[in-house]
Amino acid sequence: MTQLTLALSKGRIFDDTLPLLRAAGIEVLEDPEKTRKLILPTNQPDVRVVLVRASDVPTYVQFGGADVGVAGLDVVLEHELGPYGGGEGGASLLRPIDLGIARCRLSVATRADFDYAAAVRQGARIRVATKYTQLARQHFADKGVHVDLIKLYGSMELAPLTGLADAIVDLVSTGSTLKANHLVEVEDILPVSAHLVVNPGAAKLKRVRLQPLMDAFRRALAASTANA
Ligand code: ADP
Ligand code: MG
Repeated sequence: MTQLTLALSKGRIFDDTLPLLRAAGIEVLEDPEKTRKLILPTNQPDVRVVLVRASDVPTYVQFGGADVGVAGLDVVLEHELGPYGGGEGGASLLRPIDLGIARCRLSVATRADFDYAAAVRQGARIRVATKYTQLARQHFADKGVHVDLIKLYGSMELAPLTGLADAIVDLVSTGSTLKANHLVEVEDILPVSAHLVVNPGAAKLKRVRLQPLMDAFRRALAASTANA
């Protein structure tokens, strides 16, 4: 029997993927918030779920630790631009389905009293703190804006408040976190939703097991858009 390993991250990706899995007849048999296990069985003996950090999903899938995974477009593109990415040779991962879940956007935000437009116009060097150094580098290079990037792993909102940076590049959904920290969104970089990512080798070798899963996801997505 061909084993299928699906990489998910805890939290919104896991929660929002469950209904799609259910539509494909797959029930995860343990709750990641209640167990310390990192490998979760499902009701399908040939399908298991591995729990990894959101930003590790593309790495697991690319190198075969998982056959498929669900990851935000932010994480997928940051991975493709990074050291493990496909570079000129093309993508290291297949990305066959936009699952439309975990929607948000990647944006530039600053303190309300920082004149971002003026800084850009004057060709000033801007200090930008972000977890997304590759996407940020590409965005500002495309705009011809000079930036010094500072890599952070969390609490990005703090950077402009403490003088660590002039701006941040971070995910925004409702904007309430920015607002609570007196920050304003000054530029949209990328609309984000979670995608199914597939190991290219598994796509060929496990096609017979993967195809029905992808078909079920597509049917569930079509049904939910029809009802929306
Ligand atoms: P982590 O904090 O470990 O990165 P999250 O659950 O916060 O995990 O984020 C996982 C993915 O969910 C992100 O890569 C992004 O695609 C998406 N996401 C993050 N924040 C939001 C948000 N506020 N609203 C909707 N989707 C989000
Ligand atoms: Mg988070």
